[in-house]
Amino acid sequence: MPELPEVETVRRGLAPVMEGARFDRVEVRRGDLRWPLPKDFARRIEARTCTGLGRRAKYLLADLSSGDVLLMHLGMSGSFRVLNGGEVTPGNYHHERSKLAAHDHIVFRMSNGAVITFNDPRRFGCMKLVARERLEDEPLLRALGPEPLGNAFDAAMLARACMGKKTSLKAALSDQRVVAGLGNIYVCEALHRARLSPKRRASTLATRAGAPSDHATRLVDGIRAVLNDAIKAGGSSLRDHRQTDGALGMFQHNFRVYDREGESCRTPGCKGTIRRIVQTGRSTFFCPVCQT
Ligand SMILES: [Zn+2]
Repeated sequence: MPELPEVETVRRGLAPVMEGARFDRVEVRRGDLRWPLPKDFARRIEARTCTGLGRRAKYLLADLSSGDVLLMHLGMSGSFRVLNGGEVTPGNYHHERSKLAAHDHIVFRMSNGAVITFNDPRRFGCMKLVARERLEDEPLLRALGPEPLGNAFDAAMLARACMGKKTSLKAALSDQRVVAGLGNIYVCEALHRARLSPKRRASTLATRAGAPSDHATRLVDGIRAVLNDAIKAGGSSLRDHRQTDGALGMFQHNFRVYDREGESCRTPGCKGTIRRIVQTGRSTFFCPVCQT
């Protein structure tokens, strides 16, 4: 499943061809994504201009000149392809994306000549039109916690959200109400950077009085660093691929713990070996030596 850095690199890849351009034609080849598209989907987008492309957690939000916002989620296997002279798949994916035409469900033909195709073999992705003034009440967005790269997210806020929580740090960080957009991969990576055990109680991020502990500060720094590094890596891979063949496929990730069971820890000076355990049904990778 694409995580926040992947969605942000998709946004950065789509913004230059979407922002300021008009949707000349919207082709819905298959409207039964995670939820069926409304019947008037194409009609409400066609002839409108995209005035901005933003992101909230793992949702892309395209502002339309009509006052609607086109909300898009990649689900498990969704991706966008941009045909604009050459072909580019914006994004930074851990798994290779499908290019089978049978899975091309929605095509946007833009006034600048770009053709943007949404491909999604498993159809867990979604697109939805929401009036801009009702965005705050939108059920998909309403319960989301703070943006991990936003200004409001800091140690004090994270400590408050985790105060008194008996769950593990792994479970707390995976909870979209605590912090939005983090998935299994970056929760594992952030905990390793912060040198905190995924099994540690979430409540230890706060003192008794509710102030942030040193752990909370380390964890916020770890989360920001791991996301920023991943976004930066995605951006650079996009540029490199454009220079060579105009297409972007799989990006070589350089994880420190994720999917590295049995390999040696990458913390300088640590002699630990990465272990895999299962927490709330998902694999957790961590170093039992330097993560305490
Ligand atoms: Zn280690």
